[in-house]
Amino acid sequence: MLCLSGPALVPAFEGEQERVRGRLTHATGSEPMLRTADGIGLRLLADPESLAVLDDERVRAEVFEAVGRFEGTGGFRVDPIYKKAMFVIRGGEALVITYWCEVCAIRTYSPGKCQCCQEETDFDPRDPALEARAR
Ligand SMILES: [Zn+2]
Repeated sequence: MLCLSGPALVPAFEGEQERVRGRLTHATGSEPMLRTADGIGLRLLADPESLAVLDDERVRAEVFEAVGRFEGTGGFRVDPIYKKAMFVIRGGEALVITYWCEVCAIRTYSPGKCQCCQEETDFDPRDPALEARAR
């Protein structure tokens, strides 16, 4: 997945891309925390659109997985929203977290109102293979 062309601007000791899986345990609106199956607590760092996903009750009800990098002590930086790096686990499958407006047929990756009709979008996790084709 890494594509480094030209001079590498990233230091060689930059963390490898990792996947973490567990339950979101923070109170809504407070600093996002993930507790892994091993019982390890990680502070999640993310961009504002991703933070909105981490605060979504529909996401918090499920097993969550994120792709990113470990940062500092006990921290994990989730990849930017456009990388579609957040998943829920259903039946052992990691499904990309997406939101869908049925009226406008518009898909987004952060919860909230549809940019078109201003209705609340539906939580619609889906197969990463479909996402790859959608590009
Ligand atoms: Zn809409």
